[in-house]
Amino acid sequence: MSRPGSTGAADSRCPRCRAPVLAQWVGLVAALHVVADLRPLTPAEQTELREPNRLIWCLRGGEHTARRLTWTGRDHPAACPHPHVTEHRCTTEPTTLF
Ligand SMILES: [Zn+2]
Ligand SMILES: [Zn+2]
Repeated sequence: MSRPGSTGAADSRCPRCRAPVLAQWVGLVAALHVVADLRPLTPAEQTELREPNRLIWCLRGGEHTARRLTWTGRDHPAACPHPHVTEHRCTTEPTTLF
């Protein structure tokens, strides 16, 4: 899965809905495990989604470097050239019920 020198980011798929996601440990305050959707958000979606419990991530890197999620805090530039994504929320009900 992870190559030497990689940051631990892994392209993967949600086990439930099979959506492409990026799963990564992010050191924010404490290490936080983030599963982010790979679909970039439009500016309107970012405004709409900005709520206390839903973080928006700046997706750096890509073709030649490892992809890395960076938290978009209040100081994040509005004209940021990177795609912004949000955490994955499954729209599919779990298939296994206990
Ligand atoms: Zn950004
Ligand atoms: Zn899902």
